[in-house]
Amino acid sequence: MAEAAIANRITEVPEETRPLQHCLGQTLREDVHAERENPPFDRVCMDGIAIYSDGSEDGARQYVVEGTQPAGVPARALSGAASAVEVMTGAVLPGGANCIIPLEEYDLADRIVSLKPNALREPFRNVQRRGADSRPGVPMLRTGARLNAPEIAIIASAGMAHVRVSRQPRIMVASTGDELVEPGKPIAQHQVRRSNAYAIVAALMGHGFQDVKNDHILDDETMLREHLARHLGASDALVLSGGVSKGKFDFVPKVLKELGVEEVFYQVAQRPGMPMWFGMTAQGCAVFGLPGNPIATLVCLVRYVVPALATAMGARHPWPIPIALASAIKRGRPVTSFVPVEARWDAQGRGIAQPRIPNGSGDFLALAGTDGFVELPPQSTPYPEGFIANMYRW
Ligand code: AMP
Ligand code: MG
Repeated sequence: MAEAAIANRITEVPEETRPLQHCLGQTLREDVHAERENPPFDRVCMDGIAIYSDGSEDGARQYVVEGTQPAGVPARALSGAASAVEVMTGAVLPGGANCIIPLEEYDLADRIVSLKPNALREPFRNVQRRGADSRPGVPMLRTGARLNAPEIAIIASAGMAHVRVSRQPRIMVASTGDELVEPGKPIAQHQVRRSNAYAIVAALMGHGFQDVKNDHILDDETMLREHLARHLGASDALVLSGGVSKGKFDFVPKVLKELGVEEVFYQVAQRPGMPMWFGMTAQGCAVFGLPGNPIATLVCLVRYVVPALATAMGARHPWPIPIALASAIKRGRPVTSFVPVEARWDAQGRGIAQPRIPNGSGDFLALAGTDGFVELPPQSTPYPEGFIANMYRW
């Protein structure tokens, strides 16, 4: 299986230490432990008064306010059962107190608090107990976690200004083809736009890869050799589009071999994307030769390159989503096939995929508005409505 063959060969990118403010989207390479108990003290979580409650609602419903306890100052203490301290959200619970009555539940006049009839005096009401969320030494995050806003907050709470993450893989995207013309440049009848390189770069950036460069190479063996030699030495992954089929000017597999890239596989029983090539250099650069047909390019990128790069970063992959076909699909030969779909979720939360069948693998206009594609396993009979397939997002 192509995916497993890639995962077996891909090498991990090294780690680096980054300042926390530059960690969004990175992959964690260490466990993060709580610095202290969380919350670090019995924490007031309402503005109001702190009192002592023995759990009964009997007794006087008036208290004398002895002072104020804002957030960020050491705890003061209640002097007795008839006293109260005004407290603010985030303050340390005053010594001797165990219950917070919120502002709305009492009247305050002349330092005398009178509880309203609805005020409840339950012990530890509106108090977040010290250590309730986490204890020191317990891992809050594990290596391999992807760092989004919640994880960044957790690292900050652990007191860490820097964190170990995977270095971003250095990715070079190179399109090949004499017929390809840059957007913005004049174009002749016999030429086509260089759209794949833009799609590949966008998909990689969209999946969180940040060090992505791109190049264009003509169908010229010498030029191809020069450019690829340079890129192989300076990249962790080289993503090529075009030039991997059996045409007279498809020099990519030959030149890669001449440059010492070990071929791991060439051609995969799938549609689209059959001519896909994969290999590794001795120095650990992964080389993906994607077919130039635009749908094949994007499908192979999302199906194979994105998970491989996640593996290289020590990250968990974006899992495929099981989803039901909204209408039956007929395929020709029994090989694995990829079909673009629009996805929606019904009221029960079940995913439903509406197939958007293109006019062949060159018809990438059919991809507009699609969410991704489903992978259909090889079978000679049609895939009925309701068939559950794995969906991959663009
Ligand atoms: P190839 O894999 O080089 O044989 O190309 C297959 C088809 O994809 C041809 O019709 C190419 O013109 C087209 N193609 C190749 N590369 C690109 C690209 N970067 N952007 C758009 N179309 C491309
Ligand atoms: Mg070509």
